[in-house]
Amino acid sequence: MDVEDILKQNLAEVERRIAEACRRAGRAREEATLVAVTKYVNAATARRLVELGVANLGESRPQELWRKATAVPEARWHLVGHLQRNKIEKTLPLVRMIHSVDSVRLLEALEAEAVRQNRTAEVLLELNLSQEASKHGFTEANASSIPGALAKLGRVRAVGLMTMAALGANAEESRPAFAALRKWRDRLKAEFPAEYGFHHLSMGMTNDFEIAIEEGATLVRIGSALFRGLEAAS
Ligand SMILES: *Cc1c(COP(=O)(O)O)cnc(C)c1O
Repeated sequence: MDVEDILKQNLAEVERRIAEACRRAGRAREEATLVAVTKYVNAATARRLVELGVANLGESRPQELWRKATAVPEARWHLVGHLQRNKIEKTLPLVRMIHSVDSVRLLEALEAEAVRQNRTAEVLLELNLSQEASKHGFTEANASSIPGALAKLGRVRAVGLMTMAALGANAEESRPAFAALRKWRDRLKAEFPAEYGFHHLSMGMTNDFEIAIEEGATLVRIGSALFRGLEAAS
């Protein structure tokens, strides 16, 4: 099989599993958006996904996002990994959404740069709900600083939350963290009723996206499952 056929087949399988999880959860298919994380493949392969109908692509490293977003400008790009403040300026014009805002300091720096560039930016706040999963993210102990920080934003729109499940956890072990993220979303939404909505839950990757959808994910970030078998392709 060539690259095109493998991608088609993997995408069809991921789509089928997303649709099934939505059905199980009593949710409409449109309530969960696939963000294809392209960090394992080159820009040409990323472009093929867009041609197959995947509108949203993600990268975890800013420099890699710059490269691929410039090569594939027809996609909506999502930064899903850590953003250093010195990379904000180049990243902002290229992304639809930043999933991984992990401190008030970064939020403030994004606001300042968005003002400077005269653009708006949609972001998610990353919550670290499974301690060892990630070095980044607001912890439950400092999540109370979020509403105050959101109140100062003008150009930056915080539209929801993101989390990473613990590394190596099996799918069911991720469920409590996903349920906790949803509770935080509901709490923050009540405390800070933004006119643009505080609606999104970015959670679930290859190993646990079905559980995440059952727990309310609106954005699932999937890489490996889409690119399985490509190494062997001619
Ligand atoms: C790599 C990555 C993903 C996709 O992971 P897979 O397990 O390959 O589906 C999702 N989110 C982030 C932040 C990532 O770095």
